[in-house]
Amino acid sequence: MEYDVIIIGAGINGCCSAYTLAQAGLNVALIDQDGIASGGSGAAGAFISPKISKAGALKEIMERAHAEALEFYTTRFPRFTLTKPLLHIANSPQESDKLEHFKRETSLQHSPIDDALQSLLTEEASNDSAVYFTEGAVVDAQGVCRSMAEGIDFYPLKVEQLIHRDEVWQVGDLNAKHLVLALGAYPKLLPIDYVGLRGIWGHRIDIETSTHVPCILHHHVSISPTTKEGIVAIGATHDVHYSPFLGELYDVEQGRAVLLEKASKTLTLNNINIINDYTGLRSGSNDYLPMLGNLVDADATLLCYPHLRHGKAVDPADYVYYPQLTMINGSGGYGFVLAPYLAKRLKEYLVDGKALNLALSPSRFFPRWAKKHQS
Ligand SMILES: Cc1cc2nc3c(=O)[nH]c(=O)nc-3n(C[C@H](O)[C@H](O)[C@H](O)COP(=O)(O)OP(=O)(O)OC[C@H]3O[C@@H](n4cnc5c(N)ncnc54)[C@H](O)[C@@H]3O)c2cc1C
Repeated sequence: MEYDVIIIGAGINGCCSAYTLAQAGLNVALIDQDGIASGGSGAAGAFISPKISKAGALKEIMERAHAEALEFYTTRFPRFTLTKPLLHIANSPQESDKLEHFKRETSLQHSPIDDALQSLLTEEASNDSAVYFTEGAVVDAQGVCRSMAEGIDFYPLKVEQLIHRDEVWQVGDLNAKHLVLALGAYPKLLPIDYVGLRGIWGHRIDIETSTHVPCILHHHVSISPTTKEGIVAIGATHDVHYSPFLGELYDVEQGRAVLLEKASKTLTLNNINIINDYTGLRSGSNDYLPMLGNLVDADATLLCYPHLRHGKAVDPADYVYYPQLTMINGSGGYGFVLAPYLAKRLKEYLVDGKALNLALSPSRFFPRWAKKHQS
């Protein structure tokens, strides 16, 4: 089968890219070993929340991505998007400092909280710095991914090998000019050890409770508003030590206890019944910026420029790249916020010929890696 683009990985990055490229008229094949939203994306609480940060490239990208995501999900996928106000409460003195700064600078509408909400909060939550945004959103992670993939040719395959021959990528019986890798925290399929990614394990739970939660709450943990089905989501834990790839068993009971204890610092949830657990890996970059860009062929580049090993600079435009191959990854805990932003830039690159932002290129990690790896 011939396609314009093959996308490997049907998490939020793969699905949102497939949707955006198909909307632009490309013929897309989407592949996943375990089905749509089976990786980190299927576990996500999928809050579309602003990142509270002070200044710099990350703040600018996150602000833009957040605004684009709110617009994207509410207009394109309203059935899977719950919009409610969002109360962000600082959980440490450092965060309090960042939050106060953010509040002064942000263009997002915010207001004092009303008495009804105030009365729900614990004393600790009431006393910490907080900002109450008029508009927040949370999406149904699995529902939105499935809906994006509707009408796209989906192949349930575990890809073991990538072949590029005569300017065509071959994945099993599928051929395409362009290949997009959206593999999350899974093994990378190519010798690209310079790409600084780490898996961060997360656990969230869905509960029934007699307490009605009127808005999105972020404090020691995130708590969703009560859905029309009467569900409240609590999540997620952040564990950089546990990995399902190492064969250890995960302690679900302990994860539940951590989540409930953290939620109790924000408000009292009465008559709790846990109805579902979701676990998965986020894939975070070492510098917290997401990755969207071409991949350096490390061996070929070092052959051309051996002095890279000694720390000599080479213009990234002169590196040897795998042809017609783009990676989208490294969104950490903000994959649902970042996906529409990244997919839009991927479309502008593949369809409109616009250059990708070099600050997001995975090649940013290459020179440092080359210097450390002497042979
Ligand atoms: C518990 C939890 C809560 C979260 N909460 C939020 C939140 O509130 N808001 C937010 O914005 N983000 C949240 N995130 C983060 C977000 O889910 C991730 O950033 C996002 O899932 C990354 O998506 P992805 O498409 O890059 O990776 P994934 O969703 O992991 O998708 C990668 C896919 O690639 C497939 N794959 C890998 N290798 C192969 C292969 N060789 N062949 C075929 N298929 C392959 C896998 O099966 C997988 O389905 C949360 C994450 C977790 C775990």
